[in-house]
Amino acid sequence: MKPDPLHSLLDLKSESSTVTQFTIYTDFVVEVYPSSIHELEPAVFFIARKGGVKYLFGMTTQSTSMFDRFQSKVVFKLNSDLSLTVLQCPLSHENASVIRELFPHTRPRLIGIENSFGLGDRIGLSNPGHLQAIRNSGFHAVLAQQSIRELTRTNRTPEEVMDAATWSVFQESYKDGFGADADHLKTPADIDLMARAGFTMFTIDPSEYVVNEAAVLDEAELKRRSTGVAWQDLQDTFDGFVERYRDVTLPVDGPFSLTPDYREVLQAIVKYGNVIAHVVRMSNHLKMQYPDRPSEIEVSVDETDSPTTLFEHYFIANELKRLGIGLVSLAPRFIGDFEKGIDYRGDIAVFTEEYRKHLAIAAKLGPYKISIHSGSDKFSVYHAIGGIGSGFVHVKTAGTSYLEALRVVAVKEPGLFREILDFSLDNFAAEKQTYHVSGKLENVPDPASLEDYELTKLFDLDDARQVLHVAFGKVLTVRGDDGEYIFKEKIIRCLEEHEELHYRFIKKHFHRHIEPFGIITESMQSTP
Ligand code: ZN
Repeated sequence: MKPDPLHSLLDLKSESSTVTQFTIYTDFVVEVYPSSIHELEPAVFFIARKGGVKYLFGMTTQSTSMFDRFQSKVVFKLNSDLSLTVLQCPLSHENASVIRELFPHTRPRLIGIENSFGLGDRIGLSNPGHLQAIRNSGFHAVLAQQSIRELTRTNRTPEEVMDAATWSVFQESYKDGFGADADHLKTPADIDLMARAGFTMFTIDPSEYVVNEAAVLDEAELKRRSTGVAWQDLQDTFDGFVERYRDVTLPVDGPFSLTPDYREVLQAIVKYGNVIAHVVRMSNHLKMQYPDRPSEIEVSVDETDSPTTLFEHYFIANELKRLGIGLVSLAPRFIGDFEKGIDYRGDIAVFTEEYRKHLAIAAKLGPYKISIHSGSDKFSVYHAIGGIGSGFVHVKTAGTSYLEALRVVAVKEPGLFREILDFSLDNFAAEKQTYHVSGKLENVPDPASLEDYELTKLFDLDDARQVLHVAFGKVLTVRGDDGEYIFKEKIIRCLEEHEELHYRFIKKHFHRHIEPFGIITESMQSTP
């Protein structure tokens, strides 16, 4: 009698390679991802490549109605001395939904105030590498993280982003739970779009309501502008606000307290009054429309002209608290520059002192996490926060994973990388407009002067990183005269062919992100 293929499959679980060959039955051979093997009586499910394409497989020697639930499937019934049913299905949205129902760990969940990393993935292939990096790191993964802006720029849907996260979690058998961040939501319609796709963390971006010029208006003008605040949404009056804060000592932590004067209070009302009102309306929409949905709310005020002062932070958080809106995290605009794809620029000692106080306010009025937007590659900031050693942080990254994907292309297909680089250089002047970057074209070495093996040096140069970074939307969506994508499919094929290397780059790069926080585990130390 032949050995039961279910048992030999389960034996593969201990293999450490990304994929390994497996004979299901005589000449039915696939390349299995050993980490993806899941038992669910009476079946075993796993991801494997067949003919170079990834599928979900299920196998059972009995019969199971679970297999009926999958769509577009092929079912092989192999009957000789052993009755074996094999299910083969595409990694489609419908099948991802079934997987989420059968395996709860493949559904996003609330992360709460524990430390977390946002791992945005613009191409949709790097999440397994992210999970390998974050496993046992002390950080929780927020895997599906996409802003409306990024969705538009990459032509992706919220469902695609969620499904990519689900399949990655399944492939890695990651059971520590992951969050899904609907990032930078500006309207109730944005909430609907992401809620329908199952997102659980809602980052409300009220930046359109920030009155930046409040900083330079005189008292009379500020007073006049305050009549434009949506006081009904704030369930209070101008006088109520002034009384609550003017010359009042607000204790935060030990000797650290805030005593705003009249001007500061007026400024905060004008600058942030309608910001708070908008957050209230967005939060009410979420609660009313999706009453049964577990959700957590971040408020991001990181995209303002000037840094969020400590009193402004206090003011926003305290008012939201009064209005019954609990936050999981708040993203202030910090002192110094958080440019895309490169380290912090500014006085790190000043940042650290401010950050400590932001933390104290978050502890006092929450607790909630301090969220670091444009968090990719801010190594000196991670060291500073790790050095403080207390409080809770959420770090949002995205673009840096796109750069690691391009690193794979640079190593494996330098010709293709040169085309992407030239295209990115040509588009930099236009694309940089909507991003916070200071990179200059003249500081990027002439690609023609670089040998192929030197191309990866570009990933160590701030200006080159930013040139590559801001072009991601164009690179991933530009089509030729024939209507086909010029780069996207080629990049995807390259990453699929060199999957293991891609994961290795991502893992190494994210360990550099995580280690400075000082939460280093044994398994991370042993990483080459
Ligand atoms: Zn942001």
